[in-house]
Amino acid sequence: MKFELLGLNPEILKAVEKKGYKKSTPIQEKSIPAILNGKDVLGGAQTGTGKTAAFALPILNNLYEKKHAGNAPRALVLTPTRELAEQVGESFINYGKFLDLTTIKIYGGVKINPQITNLKAGTDIVVATPGRLLDHINQGTINLREIEILVLDEADRMLDMGFIRDIKKILKVLPAHRQNLLFSATYGKDIKQLSADVLRNPVFIEVTKRNTAAEKVNQIIYRIEKGQKRHLLAHLIKEEAWYQALVFARTRHGANRLARQLDKSGIPATAIHSDKTQSARTRAMNSFKKGDLQVLVATDVAARGIDLQDLTHVVNFELPQVPEDYVHRIGRTGRAGKSGTAITLIAPEDRAQLQKIEKILKYSIPEARAKGFKPVFEQVEGRSGSRGEGGRREKKGKTNKRPSTNSAPGKKGSDNTRKFRPKRRG
Ligand code: AMP
Repeated sequence: MKFELLGLNPEILKAVEKKGYKKSTPIQEKSIPAILNGKDVLGGAQTGTGKTAAFALPILNNLYEKKHAGNAPRALVLTPTRELAEQVGESFINYGKFLDLTTIKIYGGVKINPQITNLKAGTDIVVATPGRLLDHINQGTINLREIEILVLDEADRMLDMGFIRDIKKILKVLPAHRQNLLFSATYGKDIKQLSADVLRNPVFIEVTKRNTAAEKVNQIIYRIEKGQKRHLLAHLIKEEAWYQALVFARTRHGANRLARQLDKSGIPATAIHSDKTQSARTRAMNSFKKGDLQVLVATDVAARGIDLQDLTHVVNFELPQVPEDYVHRIGRTGRAGKSGTAITLIAPEDRAQLQKIEKILKYSIPEARAKGFKPVFEQVEGRSGSRGEGGRREKKGKTNKRPSTNSAPGKKGSDNTRKFRPKRRG
C-alpha cells in the first residue's frame, strides 16, 4: 500500500520518501492507522518486517499533531539491547527530521553524563534499554511523568534477558493513562502475561505466523563432529564463495576462539559479544557493513539488535539455548524480500536441542553433506523421514513439509553471486 493512504503527515511522508520506501510493509499497513487512532497494539512481528517504522512513524505523527510546550519526554521506547536502542533511535531521528521533534538514546556501556545533559535540555522521545533507564530514574535525572506513548520493542527478548523486573519498575513511574504498543516475535506465556498487564483492548496485529521461520530462508543442517565444525565452516565459506556470514556461538569465549581461528585460515572475522565495549562492537559492525569483514561471530545477546541488510548466510555454529532463538537467528538472513541461507552444524550432543527446534518449526530441516567431511549419523527416533541407517544420499532433504526454498542445499555460490573481496585491513 502507498504510504500516502495511511493518514500520515506530509512532513513524515517526505522523510519516508527520502528513505526510498516505495510501499508500506504489511505490519506498517496494519499498525500505522491503529496507532494514529490512539489504540494499544500487540504486534507479532520479527525484525526485518519494517516494524520500527510501523511504530515510529505514527508516534512521530501523534506527537507532532499534539504539540506540547514542556520539555519532558512524551514517548518512551524500551529495547532489549544497546544496538537496537541505537538503531531505533536513529530511525526516529531519521523519520522525524522534517518535524520539530527530538529523540535521545539512553543505554549502558557509555558515559551517563552526556545523557543527563541531553535530558536536561529536553526531548520528545526517549529510546532506552531498561537497565540504564532505571539508573536515570533512580538518580532522578529523567522525568517520565509526561509519557503518552510506551513501546516495548522485542518484548520477548527483554523477558529472555531477564528484564521483567526492570520493566515493572519502569511501568510504576509512568502515568497510568497512556497508549501502549508491544512488539514481539514470539508469543509465549510470559508475553501473554505482560500484554495482559500493560495493554488495554489492544488491536492484535500479526504479520508472520507465530514461531515460523522466515519463508525465504533456505535452511540446511550438516551433521558433524564437534571438533570438525570449524573446519567445515571454513570449507563452506571458501568452497561456496559466501559473501558474508553472521555466525552464532554460544559463549563469548567460544565466539572469540572461532573468530581467531577463521581469521587464521584467511577468512576475515571478528567476534562481538557483551564483554566487548560499545565502541568495539560498533567498529566491528561498521567494518562488516562496509564489507571489510567477512564473518561476524556473535552471541545471541550481542546479535539481537543488529540490522544487517543483504546478509547472505547465517550459521548456527552452536545451537541456541532457547529453541525460539533459532527463529530469531535465521531471521537475520532472507530479509526485505531477499533470500538467504541458514546453515546449522549439528554434533551428536546437539541432537536433543535440534529436536526441540524442529518441534517449534513443525518440520525437519533438510540435511546436506560436504565433500571430504564425514557426517555423523546416530540412531534418530521420532523424526519423520528418519534415517538412522547411516547411509543417506548426498544433499538429500527430508520430505516433511517446510517452507519452499529458493536454492538447493549446498548449491555453489547460492543465489547470491557477490563475492567477498577483502579490502586492505588495518
Ligand atoms: P525493521 O523490521 O524495523 O528492523 O526494518 C527492517 C529494514 O527494512 C530497515 O532497514 C528499514 O529501513 C527497512 N524498511 C522499513 N520499512 C520499509 C519499507 N516500507 N520499504 C522498504 N524498506 C523498509
